[in-house]
Amino acid sequence: MIRLFRIGGIPIRLDAGWFFVFGLIVWSLASGYFPYVLPGGSDGAYWAGGVVAALLLFTSVLLHELSHALVARAHGVGVAAITLHVFGGVSELETEPPDPRAEFGIAIIGPIVSVTLGGLAFAARQVAAGHDWLAALFTYLAVVNVVVGVFNLVPGFPLDGGRILRAMLWWWSGRFERASEIASRVGMGVAMLLAALGVARLLAGEPTGGVWFLLLGLFLFQAARRAHDVARIRSRLAPVTVASVMTPSAVAVSSQAAVDDVRNGELAALELGSLPVVDGDTLVGFLRRVDADRARGRAFSVAEVMAPIRPDVVVAPSDSAWLALTRLGNNDVGRVAVVDRGRLVGMVAREDVARALSAPRPSLDRAA
Ligand SMILES: [Zn+2]
Repeated sequence: MIRLFRIGGIPIRLDAGWFFVFGLIVWSLASGYFPYVLPGGSDGAYWAGGVVAALLLFTSVLLHELSHALVARAHGVGVAAITLHVFGGVSELETEPPDPRAEFGIAIIGPIVSVTLGGLAFAARQVAAGHDWLAALFTYLAVVNVVVGVFNLVPGFPLDGGRILRAMLWWWSGRFERASEIASRVGMGVAMLLAALGVARLLAGEPTGGVWFLLLGLFLFQAARRAHDVARIRSRLAPVTVASVMTPSAVAVSSQAAVDDVRNGELAALELGSLPVVDGDTLVGFLRRVDADRARGRAFSVAEVMAPIRPDVVVAPSDSAWLALTRLGNNDVGRVAVVDRGRLVGMVAREDVARALSAPRPSLDRAA
């Protein structure tokens, strides 16, 4: 996973598979689409066109994801990260939408944005008529954006259409967990249909389309099953408080301490990537091992090299263990600090949450 940059505080990340699919798209554009619609061009021009078109496609996908993030924020739902991967992108919400209306709005804006981008590209194509390269580029963007928008309406959770389905089931039944379960089951079914379609196309002698649908089906099946698992974990952790899972007496270092002393002392003794930094008992930052190593042998204080406190590295004792798990999974510290009115009162690591999960199941789960 590669961190690109932040937009409005949201980390934008690239999955390793993204490079593979980016290369595949550039290649298919440079050796297929552009030579077909613009015969007689140079190889260099085709490849340059391929790179530009592929970058604009991924910009479109990013805009689709950012629209989800924007509407989510408007409903008070934080976005932990946006990841671009082989089959598009995903916006990870920190919490579930507060109500079915919010879920519906957050889900439907993505396809609306994609179809709108497709329409704009189509209009731009009309304006650019006569400029062959621009027209070919806009035609491509018009088609792929409409395809992305329409495909996302397929009711297979975690596709947008699946979220829309969940919003409707939730609104209709009033039961979020049940709606999640049904929507992710439907998602698994849709995914199997796509994979079967891929096999059918393979058998019909269409290897490229066949392999693509087969892989897409398998990918969506995985995602739907993971969503199903996540729904179960979330329902276990949502009622558990941070206070009941945290490690209360966490090792912290003073902001006035010398970095080198901490590097040879606490950081060497504990196999942790970072330590919370305090002034008295007030949390003021995080000392990461990488920053301490960079300052090695120099007379810096902890305060001079520590990372500042960001919202994704702290939780309150009354927050849910689910929120703590989401934050520690996405921040670069790997843990979250538990802060009560500015005071550091504990730390939560993945193991702490795992312990809560392995505790005996509440009876509700067995009854369902
Ligand atoms: Zn979407």
